[in-house]
Amino acid sequence: MEDWVALGYLLSAALFIFGLKKLGHPRTAPFGNQLGALGMLVAVLTTIFSMQLAGDAEWVLIGAGIVLGSLIGYIMAVRVQMTGMPELVALFNGFGGAASALVALSEIQKYINDSGTVPAGLELTVTMVAAGLSALVGWMTLTGSLLAMYKLKGGVSVFGKWIKTPTWGPSWLNPVKVLLVIAVAVLIYLSIDDPTNTTYLWSIIGISCLLGIVLVLPIGGADMPVVVSLLNSLSGIAAAFTGFIIGNSALIIAGSLVGASGLILTFIMCKAMNRTLPDVLFKSFGGSGEKESLTRTKVGSDPDEVAMMIDGAQKVIIVPGYGMAVSQCQHQVKEFADLISEKFDTEVKYAIHPVAGRMPGHMNVLLAEANVPYEQLIEMDEINSEFPECDVAIVIGANDTTNPAARSGEGPLAGMPIIDADAARTVVIIKRSLSVGYAGVDNDLFYMDKTMMLFGDGKAMMTGLNNAIKEI
Ligand code: NDP
Repeated sequence: MEDWVALGYLLSAALFIFGLKKLGHPRTAPFGNQLGALGMLVAVLTTIFSMQLAGDAEWVLIGAGIVLGSLIGYIMAVRVQMTGMPELVALFNGFGGAASALVALSEIQKYINDSGTVPAGLELTVTMVAAGLSALVGWMTLTGSLLAMYKLKGGVSVFGKWIKTPTWGPSWLNPVKVLLVIAVAVLIYLSIDDPTNTTYLWSIIGISCLLGIVLVLPIGGADMPVVVSLLNSLSGIAAAFTGFIIGNSALIIAGSLVGASGLILTFIMCKAMNRTLPDVLFKSFGGSGEKESLTRTKVGSDPDEVAMMIDGAQKVIIVPGYGMAVSQCQHQVKEFADLISEKFDTEVKYAIHPVAGRMPGHMNVLLAEANVPYEQLIEMDEINSEFPECDVAIVIGANDTTNPAARSGEGPLAGMPIIDADAARTVVIIKRSLSVGYAGVDNDLFYMDKTMMLFGDGKAMMTGLNNAIKEI
């Protein structure tokens, strides 16, 4: 019978790995997602089966957990708006980390309840180190993710009052972070000698919660993508540690896959931001978190004027950003591209910044939903050289990712590579006002002579532009 359990875990691991492989391309990603979900179902059923074999399956508890968890997951997934996905992902990361840490905690609780079950020698060392690391990573992920969620939301509502989540990182906080990590390491070491002493465990939990907060607190501006993918990776690492403690191979494999892929994504994000991971975690690039106040003005254009200007353009590059996600205008954007390529024989491409929107791949997901051909989605590094011979760059709800202030070496955006939309012959920007983007920095691109501002909601403006083009 135990062979069946091993086989079940092997099958779920294989499904996770194939699912992950399929997630590598937008076309196959939905199937990859289904494979991953199937793998998780097989893992859950195998675990219940193995508990039944061991004679400790508590059916009421298991049933209640499945019903409650499925219900909460279903309601959240149905209700979440596309723009709320990053917050939901951050919350799920936190829950994942906490769940792993709780399982590890329950294993240690067994030793405390019955000291006869405490293993000896190397097994004890491995268990206590894994439990300590699971607690460190898991609780740190929970508090860090909750804070990240509120930062992505832009604040928290308390008694009907909206309070902005601060970005606060005095330099004395950096040695504090290092000291907290050292304190956890010492406590783990001490717990090996005295595994039933609860003081060590609760101290590790308390310090880890604090560490999650002090690590995420100073990060703001444009660096949040890095911290979100790092927390995702940490939730996987916590699961892998817990897998070692309870001897569950599926948890070790799934946790390692999440940990490794999250870490790869973190480094991709760091590269996109032109930062190193220690810089993001310890240098507080995010600035004060204050938004710059605007002093300049700019006269707006209208869709008819822009349509006339596009008539005759040989090459148009569309630069999508977070505002496209908010207004959900990806279908109108696709219609616009089809219209001008059919009517004016214009070549159309899309410039994709790696951190545009509020989650990795945000723009790719939205444009794929509108059936934009993948070949037209060009990554920033590749497309930037094409802007000097581009007639019109159409920036739709993108701000930070086109902000020339990033080249200045100062402020929250300093050093971040941007889409060179300002190198195009004419720039059209669609957004509701001159207001700043996520990092809070005023954008010189809006005030250039060659820039036309189309003030309004993305969907309304794109619909107006499409109608104006149809009438030419
Ligand atoms: P920004 O967040 O810099 O700016 C978006 C702009 O969209 C705003 O200035 C806003 O201007 C406009 N907008 C909002 N609603 C609408 C609407 N309905 N219609 C039209 N425009 C609208 O966008 P970018 O995509 O350029 O940059 C992303 C930023 O988010 C970066 O700083 C990145 O680091 C950060 N980030 C990215 C994450 C990721 O994983 N991709 C995760 C977390 C943060 P207005 O109000 O005037 O309309």
